[in-house]
Amino acid sequence: MSHVIGIDLGTTYSCVAYLKQNKPEIIPNLDGHVVTPSVVSFTTDGQVLVGNLAQRQAVANPERTITAVKRLIGRKFDSPEVEEAKKRVPYRLEAAPNGDIMIMVDNQLISPQEISAIILSYLKACAEAYLGEKVSEAVITVPAHFNDHQRQATKDAASIAGLEVLRVINEPTAASLAFGLESNKNCRVAVFDMGGGTFDITILEIQDGVFNVLSTNGDTFLGGEDFDNRLVSWLLEDFKKETGLDLSQNKFSLQRIREAAERAKRELSFVFETEINLPFIAVDESGSKHILKKISRYKLEDLTRDLVWKTIPLIEQALEDARLRPENIDEIVLVGGQTRMPYLRQVVADFFHKEPRSGIDPDLIVAMGAAIQGGIIKGVMTDLAILLDVTPFSLGIETENDGYQIIIEKNTTIPTRKTMAFTTVEHNQVRVRIHVLEGENPVASMNKSLGWFDLIGIEPAPAGVPQIDVTFEIDADGILRVSARDAATGREQGMEIHYAAGLTRGEVEILKEKHRPFALPGKK
Ligand code: AMP
Repeated sequence: MSHVIGIDLGTTYSCVAYLKQNKPEIIPNLDGHVVTPSVVSFTTDGQVLVGNLAQRQAVANPERTITAVKRLIGRKFDSPEVEEAKKRVPYRLEAAPNGDIMIMVDNQLISPQEISAIILSYLKACAEAYLGEKVSEAVITVPAHFNDHQRQATKDAASIAGLEVLRVINEPTAASLAFGLESNKNCRVAVFDMGGGTFDITILEIQDGVFNVLSTNGDTFLGGEDFDNRLVSWLLEDFKKETGLDLSQNKFSLQRIREAAERAKRELSFVFETEINLPFIAVDESGSKHILKKISRYKLEDLTRDLVWKTIPLIEQALEDARLRPENIDEIVLVGGQTRMPYLRQVVADFFHKEPRSGIDPDLIVAMGAAIQGGIIKGVMTDLAILLDVTPFSLGIETENDGYQIIIEKNTTIPTRKTMAFTTVEHNQVRVRIHVLEGENPVASMNKSLGWFDLIGIEPAPAGVPQIDVTFEIDADGILRVSARDAATGREQGMEIHYAAGLTRGEVEILKEKHRPFALPGKK
């Protein structure tokens, strides 16, 4: 049986693992590293670089080097999250005809799904080179807080890369699988996951091989990059004060500053002071200008304290949803590179009155969990049988006067299916619009619109008489399908929500044809 790979497709780094004699093992990339920068670069001579190679030339080629695409995948051009991203990324963003976000490189529009597909294709090639066999099946992880569009877009990316996705699982759940396998005990776990772009908190119970997610919460726009940005702004302001020069619009300088800030931030997890040294960062009539600045761990904490504290109300909500208190948690598992920050670890430990689990590599554990899930699906991990995950948001439909009727409550175990009966509001109404929403606000327009469809041909009748059964169904990948049925005529309409956004099936097929597998060096 060929291997199933587990892929952690991260905002900043990605990682791939497989099962070797029922134990998860990391697959190194073609450069021998256990993690691969989630970076794709298009060179002026038509090459596509991925990972370390792409990252290495980001400073020289910022407009054609695509980083942090996970922040864009499955999003609309005019969403607040993309507004925020526009300020940060050196590459150009444009709107697709359906309003989705696209990346413009050399006058060509590229979808985030295609960029992710290039990264996945590279990881697939690394796995094939390492295992010496073709790999076609994968389990892919996504943040627990990814919504329907983001999950579907990630699956589409894998499909373009020639991978069959056996399951999409939540990153914290994957981490807990790997942790549970290792610790082999019954306990309640809080998985605190902060990577480059997102934050998730997941509360789960492990009992006799059953992994039961009790609740999940998070912020898809809170991650390591926000910490980097604070440092970048501080450096820019300081430089402006000293020299009068504003580097915030200079893409080349900004990229150098960004890289140096991220490096300094990482170092400050291990040392109390470090130096940012950027010679020849700018020139004016008086000559070359340099940045040479010492920064202490305390200064970094000062600049980012509120970001760390933003996680606390989200953890409190997750605990409340799970009907637990901090002292009911037996183990804290930290996932994602940003959790190496000592101040963050301290705040989390103080909140739970407990030290987080040590000896877990936050960069690797998610991919390892994904590989285990692959083993469970293939039936090779028979003692770990059941994974019960939940949906991160409530889902429902718009009703009269901007009302919102929830059909599936957040934190419901998936897969799930629920039907609710609705009726018409006008006499002889022959058509109803089913507007599908995601969120917790009782006012419809305050929630996220996932799409809509019309159920037509309802038999004319007084208002309130027809019975329209609306069914919501969420599969094990967390992807929603909605249908509506007129009880009188049996007429039915339905949709998979992703058709409201993202790529159509046809577009995915075309991109699949177009996509070239990542060529290994020396192979034709
Ligand atoms: P991930 O998405 O899990 O790969 O996490 C990447 C994020 O973790 C990036 O924002 C990194 O800057 C951050 N990170 C990696 N190592 C450290 C460290 N030692 N201290 C603080 N942040 C780190």
